[in-house]
Amino acid sequence: MKILRSYICGRWHEASSGFVPLVDPSTEEVLAQASSEGVDFAAVLDHARERGGPALRSLTFAQRGALLKEMSKVLRDHRDELLDLSRRNNGTTKPDGSFDVDGASGTLAYYAALSKSLGDRHSLVEGEGVQLAKTEGFWAQHILVPRRGVALHINAFNFPAWGFAEKAACALLAGMPVITKPATATALTTERSIELIVEAGILPEGALQLIIGSTGDLLDRLGPQDVMAFTGSADTARRLRNRPNLMAANTRVNVEADSLNAAVLGPDVDPGEGSATFGLFLKDVVREITQKAGQKCTAVRRILAPADRIGAVQDALISRLGAVVTGNPADAAVTMGPVATEQQLRDAEEGVAELARTARLVHGTGKRIDGMGTPAGKGFFFGPTLLRADDARHAGAVHEREVFGPVATLLAYDASAAAASEIAALGGGMLVTSVYSDDAGWVGDFLENGGGAAGRVYVGSESSAADAPGSGAALPQALHGGPGRAGGGEELGGLVGVKLYLQRVAVQGSRTLVNDVTGVSA
Ligand code: NAP
Repeated sequence: MKILRSYICGRWHEASSGFVPLVDPSTEEVLAQASSEGVDFAAVLDHARERGGPALRSLTFAQRGALLKEMSKVLRDHRDELLDLSRRNNGTTKPDGSFDVDGASGTLAYYAALSKSLGDRHSLVEGEGVQLAKTEGFWAQHILVPRRGVALHINAFNFPAWGFAEKAACALLAGMPVITKPATATALTTERSIELIVEAGILPEGALQLIIGSTGDLLDRLGPQDVMAFTGSADTARRLRNRPNLMAANTRVNVEADSLNAAVLGPDVDPGEGSATFGLFLKDVVREITQKAGQKCTAVRRILAPADRIGAVQDALISRLGAVVTGNPADAAVTMGPVATEQQLRDAEEGVAELARTARLVHGTGKRIDGMGTPAGKGFFFGPTLLRADDARHAGAVHEREVFGPVATLLAYDASAAAASEIAALGGGMLVTSVYSDDAGWVGDFLENGGGAAGRVYVGSESSAADAPGSGAALPQALHGGPGRAGGGEELGGLVGVKLYLQRVAVQGSRTLVNDVTGVSA
């Protein structure tokens, strides 16, 4: 039986007890086991602070970017192997695995490219300097310097490669050493990714450590210069961010959590075959329900359609969802894999039962099904599921419970942009809202009324239909994060995500001296 190891203090650590099994969700075969028993977390932190931090800070932004480029290349060179691990441990089809694995190498490559524009500097100048007195004898300039602690990254089970890479890219570029902890149940792809990076000897010692299993007393040891970036459920986030030592030290905490993302069909869009905008809406929504079996924080959970068109929208969605083949991705005919764990399957079943109190099932069973390519009774399969609630404002759990599977609910609204944005906002804060319309005035009204309920607004229209990648793609150039239920965090977005790991300092003094020490040319 394979035992997953943690990479700590410059060596691989293998536990001898406390194991948790990692399972193939298509077959229920146990693939490996993992535990962090025996890890000395104080030593892990010392190693990062005393070795990794100084080594990274001695490099410039451009030099650190060059390391990211090499990391990206190693992952790309082993793409097929990582896709295979993703299929076995996460139950992903090849396109779904690639969303994670290619997302990881692509995000690292993007930040490597961005670093070139930051140059051979150890700090970044932010904005223009400002005169603070009658003369230039007193002046201020904001700069950004690496925080002198450790970046602890705790990730969710659904993105074992991208989740690690998107956080590590920003922290390493900023000059902070990383301790990364994947969700234990799907850590196979992360462990191999780190092993490849370590074997390639890319990073200075102490810059990247891996914990597989529990974090022991690690969180209790974080202090004022450290950063904890968490992705996972809102419940876990609440427990972690309220730890007394994190609050006492004001440890910087970033949370990416649940999100009841909404897709809104504008009243101008004809739900017929001739409309490119409706075609995009259908393609996107079906992809967002079924990609990674709906286990994406950016997946569409609520679909808003004008009341006089909801029947046509429902029929079109059911027709496409009915063509999805759920099963073991090892079978070439399968287009959607299982959910990743037995717990996820139970959560999806319970979640649909809860939604069904205020909405009715119009497609799917809300229960485990048998999957193609796997013996009957085996595997955590859950077919695409569509519900419908006609009273959108009183749809209860539809606006409160994230069912983390291929599940979405149709909601009717009265065609006004204000009503659509109010209903979308009932979700309590989203990562992304997608709006499908060719009427700029209507979209403008939607944004004005409720644009701030999501961290990202994706507008699908005839003019974007050929290029738009779908609302679920968190691209490194644009902000990933949202208010309220979504955690209130900010990741990616070019430099936005890097700034999480940098300390802003207002340097004050005479203009000449301030410009000299901050590297601003007069
Ligand atoms: P989860 O159960 O909250 O776990 C997330 C991570 O927290 C895992 O690594 C888990 O480790 C760790 N963890 C749990 N308790 C901990 C503790 N006491 N101390 C330290 N670490 C602890 O979430 P999940 O089931 O993996 O992920 C699904 C959720 O993530 C969904 O709600 C989804 O919306 C959200 N998500 C959000 C985003 C985003 O960017 N906003 C992206 C992806 C997923 P173990 O596995 O070892 O328990």
